[in-house]
Amino acid sequence: MATIFTKIVNGEIPSYKIAEDDKFYAFLDINPLAKGHTLVIPKKEVDYIFDLDEQTYIGLQAFARKIAIALKKTIPCKKVGVAVLGLEVPHAHIHLIPMQSEQDINFANPKKKFSPAEFEEIVKLVKSEL
Ligand code: AMP
Repeated sequence: MATIFTKIVNGEIPSYKIAEDDKFYAFLDINPLAKGHTLVIPKKEVDYIFDLDEQTYIGLQAFARKIAIALKKTIPCKKVGVAVLGLEVPHAHIHLIPMQSEQDINFANPKKKFSPAEFEEIVKLVKSEL
């Protein structure tokens, strides 16, 4: 069965899309730890990030780098943090999290709430820097 992220890539489930190319897709995390929290995934459905073939793994990191640079320009933060967990969704993904402090990248924190309009505004801002 397709993962929820494959359904997002295929447009079967909506997402706040930041960017995509033929192999990769970036969208806002729906339960963000911080404003601009983004997930970057390969379109190829592989559960564990380190099971990706080397070319896809490197491509994913390069794609994530572009998104992180755009996030840093648009979301007020000290740095964009990077995390890989994959404990919930069995489809490899990189979390990009704009941080003011290390507390912002604690996955035990309560998640931030944004309205659809606020999510759309974040998408617009980040896309303008891509
Ligand atoms: P993990 O697999 O532990 O890295 O966590 C999966 C992440 O995916 C969590 O931060 C969720 O909030 C996020 N997530 C799950 N479903 C969706 C969705 N439909 N759209 C955006 N983000 C999602």
